[in-house]
Amino acid sequence: MTGMMEIHTYPDPVLRAKAEAVENIDDELLALIEGMGEVMYTAPGIGLAANQVGVLKRVIVFDRRPREKGRDTAVLINPEIVLAEDQITWEEACLSVPDFSAEVARKGQVKVTGLDRRGNPSTIEADDLLAVCLQHEVDHLNGTLFIDHISALKRTLYKKKLMKMLKEQADKD
Ligand code: ZN
Repeated sequence: MTGMMEIHTYPDPVLRAKAEAVENIDDELLALIEGMGEVMYTAPGIGLAANQVGVLKRVIVFDRRPREKGRDTAVLINPEIVLAEDQITWEEACLSVPDFSAEVARKGQVKVTGLDRRGNPSTIEADDLLAVCLQHEVDHLNGTLFIDHISALKRTLYKKKLMKMLKEQADKD
């Protein structure tokens, strides 16, 4: 893989597709994970799902300590939320949904299982921002965006704003 991967943005259909389970952890997958980490920190963001770089594989990368400076990169291959409890509301944004943020109701604590890059079982227990991040990224693998969790009215307003932005961009070109 050469150069930096590109972040796909709404309404790109790849963000609506369900990613497929990873069967083999090969060089191509390791390069994908590497590239995703690079894209995430450059953006900058605290989590990224493979759909967002146009690859329909069940892979997420995230920072294990998203509130702190510095990098603590983690990956989960074929992640599954096996436990989710308590409620939390968080102002969310997404690298694939430019210029928008909105409050989303999530679970406050989650346990997520999957595989690490060596193929070993890995379990992440998270609360607060990391719990929100993991739910957001697993959503991506199922073709779901955070704007699907907000009211239809707010979503419509965002779509109008986006259409206006895209039109202005097209007029400029
Ligand atoms: Zn996102």
